Amino acid sequence: MMRLPKFEYHAPRKIADAVKLMAEAGREGQFVAGGTDLYPNMKRRQQTPKVVIGLHRIAALKKITGSASTTGVSVGAGVTLTELIENRTIQKYYPVIAQAARLISTPILQNMGTLGGNLLLDTRCNYYDQNYEWRKGVHFCLKKDGDTCWVAPGSKICWAVQSADEVPVLIALGVRVKLVSPGRERVIPIAQLYSRFDGIHYLTKQHDELLTEILLPPANGWRASYAKLRRRGAFDFPVLGVAACVWFEDDHATVRDAKLILGAIAPHPLEATEAQKLLIGRPLDENAIRAAAAAAHAVAKPLDNTDFLMYWRKQMVRPYVEQALNELRNPK
Ligand SMILES: Cc1cc2nc3c(=O)[nH]c(=O)nc-3n(C[C@H](O)[C@H](O)[C@H](O)COP(=O)(O)OP(=O)(O)OC[C@H]3O[C@@H](n4cnc5c(N)ncnc54)[C@H](O)[C@@H]3O)c2cc1C
Repeated sequence: MMRLPKFEYHAPRKIADAVKLMAEAGREGQFVAGGTDLYPNMKRRQQTPKVVIGLHRIAALKKITGSASTTGVSVGAGVTLTELIENRTIQKYYPVIAQAARLISTPILQNMGTLGGNLLLDTRCNYYDQNYEWRKGVHFCLKKDGDTCWVAPGSKICWAVQSADEVPVLIALGVRVKLVSPGRERVIPIAQLYSRFDGIHYLTKQHDELLTEILLPPANGWRASYAKLRRRGAFDFPVLGVAACVWFEDDHATVRDAKLILGAIAPHPLEATEAQKLLIGRPLDENAIRAAAAAAHAVAKPLDNTDFLMYWRKQMVRPYVEQALNELRNPK
């Protein structure tokens, strides 16, 4: 049985107290929300904070407020995936967020796991998500305790994969996030939260910053979808996730703007910019969808670091992009 290492635990009730505790703990500290990612990582000694600051008692992180038709909706970072799935406003105005949450792990883990924890999920890799003895057996890897990336041994960067289902979805929707640290607050587009090509420092968030709110834009006529590839439908991390969002002109036929974000294929969420351009200014018909899927396939360069062969994962980009876009043509 894998045991947790010893650590000091705090459970503050206020955001101000949580960020103060983190400032005092410095690099030894780490926030925990549902713990469905952090605690297994601690058991495998992938992450070894000496001070853990629990967020589950902070009521301010658990609220869903605002109006989907005017101001947009604020979702607290501590809202659980189950709460998200069951919330009426999310179901009615942001169904793609509930749909992606439903595809995360299992109902039991959804009861614990939070939206904030999902957005800040550690990157994943076959050579990293192993117990301590396994990792020691291969002299560890670049991401933790070693100096070689076993996925690409000549590489100076870590190729661990961004694998959280809500990330591509919320980027496609143009969501913003609020980060709070002692005496400082900032709001940034969620896309700016992720570093490019860095599986180790995969977030631009400062260590002492607490993610407090996810700010959804007003539901002003866009349509969005998410298609997820994984081995077992019952539960598994994505090895490819395609989020699509499309805004139509007043004629309800011509695409005014489009976002196509690929997840679980690189150390960061990947915006398929050429594919997006091919969708804009024309109807979302079969030809447009086929062209966009080909362009997305061209930029996707998965490596051999997750389940399934990388060549097959690349091949799957085409049909999964087509699936996501076809759903927007024929919304249920
Ligand atoms: C068997 C299994 C299957 C899974 N399948 C999937 C899957 O299919 N898709 C998927 O996306 N995920 C999956 N997960 C991962 C996980 O359950 C979810 O991503 C979940 O939403 C993580 O949320 P959490 O609150 O438990 O995160 P935690 O473990 O509490 O935290 C995760 C990270 O975020 C940080 N953090 C959390 N909240 C904050 C905050 N407010 N501010 C600053 N830092 C914060 C923590 O310090 C930690 O680094 C799976 C996990 C397991 C164990």
